[in-house]
Amino acid sequence: MTKSYPTQESEHDLETGSIKSDDAVGKGEGAGLIGQHEPCSPKLPATGRAGQAVFEYAPAPESRSIVHLQSSYGLFIDGAFVEPLDGKAYKTENPATEELLAEIAAAGTADVDLAVEAAGRAQKTVWGPMSGVERAKYLFRIARIIQERSRELAVLESLDNGKPIRESRDVDVPLAAAHFFYYAGWADKLEYAGFGPDPQPLGVAGQVIPWNFPLMMAAWKLAPALAAGNTCVLKPATTTPLTALLLAEIIQQADLPPGVVNVLTGAGSVAGAALVAHPGIDKVAFTGSTEIGKDLQRALAGTGKHLTLELGGKAANIVFEDAPLDQAVEGIVNGIFFNQGEVCCAGSRLLVQESIAETVVEKLKRRLATLRVGDPLDKNTDLGAINNAAQLDKIRELAAAGEAEGAVRWSPACSLPERGYWFPPTVFTGVSQAHRIAQEEIFGPVLSVLTFRTPEEAVAKANNTVYGLSAGVWTEKGSRILWMAGQLRAGVVWANSFNRFDPSSPFGGYRESGFGREGGRPGLAAYLDV
Ligand code: NDP
Repeated sequence: MTKSYPTQESEHDLETGSIKSDDAVGKGEGAGLIGQHEPCSPKLPATGRAGQAVFEYAPAPESRSIVHLQSSYGLFIDGAFVEPLDGKAYKTENPATEELLAEIAAAGTADVDLAVEAAGRAQKTVWGPMSGVERAKYLFRIARIIQERSRELAVLESLDNGKPIRESRDVDVPLAAAHFFYYAGWADKLEYAGFGPDPQPLGVAGQVIPWNFPLMMAAWKLAPALAAGNTCVLKPATTTPLTALLLAEIIQQADLPPGVVNVLTGAGSVAGAALVAHPGIDKVAFTGSTEIGKDLQRALAGTGKHLTLELGGKAANIVFEDAPLDQAVEGIVNGIFFNQGEVCCAGSRLLVQESIAETVVEKLKRRLATLRVGDPLDKNTDLGAINNAAQLDKIRELAAAGEAEGAVRWSPACSLPERGYWFPPTVFTGVSQAHRIAQEEIFGPVLSVLTFRTPEEAVAKANNTVYGLSAGVWTEKGSRILWMAGQLRAGVVWANSFNRFDPSSPFGGYRESGFGREGGRPGLAAYLDV
């Protein structure tokens, strides 16, 4: 049993067609367990469009037998997995099926004290005094073990987060390993990094990460901090603790001295808040919502703690009429539908030059009709599940607001599993700059399409946001790319590409997207007393 969307031919007009009701989306309507439903895929006649043959996909599920889930997990403090002092725990589920995955320890303030003390001790007695050459060996070892256990990490990430295995396998895990490799290379070269002859670590870093890239964010936080000689207490998001805990196991396997890395699972309002407020913390690194980022900035003002914030975004992906359009369409899809759009730098606003708007939207809709939504562990899946129920509610609410404000909503014909948290790829045309869907971060697979006539208008519209994290520019003119990059108020500008990451390339924003950089040499500065 599945809930089916109308086929394009019957009830969708490819130009302007929209699905009618938000109620048809996601959990609860028309039952169908994952793996038993029809994913979003073209409902084409046997010969397909333009006489092309159409091939059905056979299911290609990745085996989950490589993952050995425990029924419960403790906190990782001072090199060992321990029970929380007050014995509290919560459950983590698979967002694609709502199946219980494991019981997870919920750290309280006393556990935070223990973890911060362990990290402080390790920093002063072992990790800080250790030579960069020796620290590098540990980081290289962690990187290599991540590679060795990459399949296990990828499957676990897809189970806990809901993202397609294709992405966890080809993006999250390789980039996590790459970050450890990259910063391992810096550990013995800090005096050549341009921060003076003998740059010193800050001390103990309290690091709070979100649920959209759980392993990758852990690597982005831990690798530069450790390379620079800091020790860490990491708090993963409540809904995605499992790969951070597996990383803790890998850290044990790599024989990292006890206390150098500690992982505290549990609620942000309890463990996260106690961690960042702890007097034993010298540096706070946070990735998550702008709202909590602002709270942290207020709370830390005047404490002398160092702070970096990587917050939300509402990026413009700008397509000029001279762009290679088919390539641009792939970039638009990658920009907003990668990781179900749960990406801070997602290209959630498409700004397309008026002269080609109709063509681009039509090409985009045809391409979206080929996306496959469904089982995250199926290797053919393009879009997986939304990470949690609250996030699904937020996406639904903003999509409904888009319709209510007069934008035209469209999704390809598809069916979604009944159980789990699902939202189809969605495009809004007829969007004005004042609409909520053009201003607020949706953090889901929803694209708002706006048009422009001149480069100046594109810049004005792209910059009309409180955020400043990323942007994309599609044009064949190099001079225009450079001019646009200079005008756009965004920390990262991609040219003829989108959502490309590399450990050597700094990433971060300004305005309400936060401050500080992760990656590259600037990523080291965030963990050194410079
Ligand atoms: P949050 O900002 O609430 O969560 C991010 C991390 O901060 C989590 O580990 C969370 O823990 C923790 N946290 C929450 N409250 C506190 C606190 N008072 N002190 C310290 N740490 C805290 O994001 P949500 O998960 O609630 O998502 C809400 C919205 O934020 C999304 O809809 C999206 O728009 C945006 N977002 C942006 C991300 C980005 O990469 N920039 C990533 C995730 C979300 P816990 O999980 O226990 O709440």
